[in-house]
This record gives sequence, C-alpha cells and structure tokens, in this order.
Amino acid sequence: MSKQRGLWVAILLIFVLTMTTWHVWNTESKLDSVWKNWSPAGKSANFKILNRQKLLIKQGAKTILLIAATSDLHGTLTSTRLLPRTRPRGLLHLVQKVRQLRANNPEMILLDAGDTIQGDPSSFYFSHIFQEKLKPLPIIEVMNQLKYDAIALGNHDFEPPVSVLKQNIAQSNFSWLAANVRFKNAKQPLFPPYKIFIRNGVRVGVLGLITPGVPLWIDPEQRKGLIFDEMLETAKYWVKVLREEENIDFLIGLFHSGDNTRYDQYVASARDLPYPNAAGMIADYLPVFDLIISGHAHRISPKRRTNQLNGHQTPLISPGTAAEGLSTVLVNFEEQSGHWKITETVYDYLKAEVSPESQLLNKLEPRLQKVEKYLQEQTSVLFKRFPNKIELYACGAELSFAAVKNLVPEALSLLPWWWRFEKLPESDLGNLLRREHFFRWLPYDNRIVLVQMFGRQIEIMLESYRRQKFGWYARSSTILAPGGFTAEVDKSRKGSRLFLTGLDEHAFNKEKMYPVWLTNFHWNGGGGLGAKALLNSRQLVRKESVHLRELIFQHLRSPSVKLPEKCKLFLENSTRSASHNSEAGQ
Ligand SMILES: [Zn+2]
Repeated sequence: MSKQRGLWVAILLIFVLTMTTWHVWNTESKLDSVWKNWSPAGKSANFKILNRQKLLIKQGAKTILLIAATSDLHGTLTSTRLLPRTRPRGLLHLVQKVRQLRANNPEMILLDAGDTIQGDPSSFYFSHIFQEKLKPLPIIEVMNQLKYDAIALGNHDFEPPVSVLKQNIAQSNFSWLAANVRFKNAKQPLFPPYKIFIRNGVRVGVLGLITPGVPLWIDPEQRKGLIFDEMLETAKYWVKVLREEENIDFLIGLFHSGDNTRYDQYVASARDLPYPNAAGMIADYLPVFDLIISGHAHRISPKRRTNQLNGHQTPLISPGTAAEGLSTVLVNFEEQSGHWKITETVYDYLKAEVSPESQLLNKLEPRLQKVEKYLQEQTSVLFKRFPNKIELYACGAELSFAAVKNLVPEALSLLPWWWRFEKLPESDLGNLLRREHFFRWLPYDNRIVLVQMFGRQIEIMLESYRRQKFGWYARSSTILAPGGFTAEVDKSRKGSRLFLTGLDEHAFNKEKMYPVWLTNFHWNGGGGLGAKALLNSRQLVRKESVHLRELIFQHLRSPSVKLPEKCKLFLENSTRSASHNSEAGQ
C-alpha cells in the first residue's frame, strides 16, 4: 500500500516539477529587459566626447591636486546604529574629515569605487520593504551632501530592484561611471564611461570600470541584455579618447575590481567570462594611468602616509570598505615644456572618526527609526547563551534547512555553511532573537532557488565541505551545508570521497535527480560551484523572491516552532519563559 502511494507521490512530484521548470524557462525568455530603451538621468545623463584644446599652463607654474576616495560603502552609515559595532565605520564618520580636507583644498576631487547601494539594513529596507520615490537612499543622500564628484558602478549595485538603482542614479548629484557596460548590440556604453574635471588648473579624466564578473553573482533578470566587457581592452580604447581628444593632464582609473588578477580567475573562465579582478593587470600593462583606485576586494592600501607605492607599475590604491577610512592622494605638479609634470605624490589613509556627524545623523533620524523598528521585530525564540562559531554554523545549517522545508517538504538543501560570527551585546541574553540578528549573521541578500540535481552533482557541490572536513583550505563562501541528508567520508573505500545518505538511510543514487534548494548566488555562479557541477539552466525549477534570512526569521516567529537539536544548545522556545513572566507579574 504505502509503497504504491509513494510511487504515486513521486510521479506527481515529477510532473509538477517538470511543468514548473517549463513555465519558468518559458516566461524568462519572453520577458523584456528592464534596461531596454533606458538611459541614465541626472548628472549621469548626456555623455558626450568633446574635442578640447589642451589647457594652457604658464611657464614655471606650480599646482596641487587633492583626490579623496572611498569604496565598497555597501550603504554603511554609522557603526553606532542599526547594527552597532565596536569599530567605528560608516560614511557619517567621515563627514568631518571630508569637510576639513575641502576647507584646505576647495578643489578636491571626491570619488568612490562602487558597491554603494546594497548591504546596510537601511539600504535593504528602502530598496525592498519601503521604497521612497522622492528621496534617494540614505547613503546617496549623505554622498550628495558630501559633494561626491563621481563613483563607479559595482556588482552589488545590480542587486536591489533595478528601479531603485535607476532612481538613485537620477537623484545623485554625481556621475555613475562604467565604460564596460553596454546594452546588447550597442557600441556605446550604457553609463557614462568617464568624467572630466578641471581643478586647480589641471584637467583630470576619471575613467570608470566595473568587474566583468557581474554575471557570476547577479540574477539574469536584473542584468538582462547587458554586456560586461573585458576591462583591459575597454580601458585601452577610452584612454586614447581621453588623452587625444579630451586632452587631459591627469588620468585616474576608478575601478570596481580588485588588483589580484588570479582571484576568481578560474571561476570566471569556467563561464567564459573575462578576469573579474583586472585592476592590477591594467596598472602593470597599461601604464598610461597616473592613479588607479581599486575597489571590490575590500582591501586597504596603503594603510598609512607614504610617498612611495610599490606593487604595480602605476600607483594603485584601495580604500577599504564600509567607510572605515578615507584614502587621500596629494599630487604636486610643476610646469615643464608646457605640460604638468608630477614632482611628488603623498598617499594617506584617514581612519573613520569615533562619532558620526550629528547634523546629518539628525536629518536621517526619522528614516533610521523606521529601519530600527523593522530590525527590532522579534522571533519567539530566546537567547540562552551566546554560541561559539562551530555552534552557530551547525545551528545555522539546520535552521536554513528547516526554513526551506516549509516550502517543499521533499526538497533537500545546499545552503551557506558560513554565517558571520559577531560578538553580541550582553543585553541580548535572555531576550528574544530579533530580525537584527539575522542581518548580522547573514549579511548577504541571498534569495533561494529550487534546482533539480543529479546525485553526482550534489556530491560535486559539496567539494569545499569535504575539504573542510579534512582541515584543508576552502573559501568559506563555497562551503555548503547538506540539508535533509548526511554527507560523510566514505571509509569503506580507499580515498576520501563523500558518501551521501538520505534521512530514510538510503544511499544517494548518482544518476537520480533530487530537488535541492540553493542560494541565487551559488546558482548564478558564485564560487564557481555550478560550473564545476555542470549545472545548466534547464535544471532550474523555481525561484523564490523571499530572502533566505527573512525566511529563517519568519520560521522562528511561529510560537510553536520546533527548534533543531543543534540550536537548542543556545536557543529555546519562549512560551515557557513568557508564561513565567506573566505568572511573576500576577
Ligand atoms: Zn564588488
């Protein structure tokens, strides 16, 4: 009887999955691109190449140029609010520094190397929960106040709803640059490739580029029709325009791309994509830039004052992330045969101040309070004690699986094993877990997708999990936790392969298909796992619009939630304590 019923359920499941696959496949290919017929508004509008005469420079003249830069702000406003942290960071902590620099150097150029509008809960809230059409995101509001001149687009900037990105570009008092993004078949870039400034008698060109690795991480619907060209070739084309037609004196490369060429190189080449981190390569092989500002890698370089930069042919600086500090470059020039010649350059890094600037903070207060209210919403689960890293990861894996199990009971999961571990305030102990905690533990805005995978593909997707079991190095973003099955080292055979067993204690069949939940990050190609396992788009069953962190949070809101065993070490259902409290009150 039960065997026959099981068979019918299996047949029905296969039918439903096939139909949904066909449906997803069919609707996606029909959808029009959100980028079709679009052109940027505001300061990014009406890009034009001008034939400019070379600036006249007086004989014997001297001048200076001050450049300040941030990168990978990820919407970060302040470390004192939303997700409080001990180390000061956030753009509000750089306001005084920028004002001081500008007071001494009114002609300063202020730049940012991208990944600006995604990350901080304030960006998330005003992008996904409560969009405000008449105001830019808080981070853009602060950047407008600080009078940024230009920023590069970053890969994460394509993550919020495209309408949010478009709106913020239009409402920015600065240009968003990306010379290597085109709409299919178009020759000209979609965004302005560069911007020209004349400061203290020096004509400065700023060329913006974005990592061409975008398709590895961003959902196809968000970037449909967009082509991300190779950086070095694109740079070669535009520097010629800048030097020969725009007649600039000083050339800055503003790149949302790291300087370690080998990083993610294989991941990208498996998908026929160019080097995602080509800033260092351009610094070495296209020595016409005077300065390169490299973002994306969240690196700080140099960390202190110096007039000597080593490592690349062209000076390359990296301003870190989340406005933990501000990179500055002070260039001294002297006229020589009618040209500006650089006589000395001083690089520095100014750390974020302990307190946020109060006037701008006050201005943002009503919006911050809305976000805080959202972050303070509670689950029905209590913090017994703080977990250590291992306990957090183990509980996280089980919670992730429990949360997606509500959607499709038969499905398995391969969701992130790594959760960001942070020291939490003592006051959290004995209190209910809040949405805030999931913003800390799961900082990335991952959604989930259901994929039909062969047993052998599941095994390949667990490669980093296996390496980690042996104590070998594995990038944390590539370690997936098995959900709904176990993956143990097969000791019966020689070698060190994983042995996958379902909860029904049946071994996995390599040639059988299983429905598995992944994050959209790993499905799109993040970490290179999908390419290794040869996943293809026909295996996609469905995409969920809910974010993984929200799904887990909602799961824990139910008063009758059954906590996974591994979470009971540090969490417990609150009903008991709640009744305790009310008893105490009576
Ligand atoms: Zn990035």
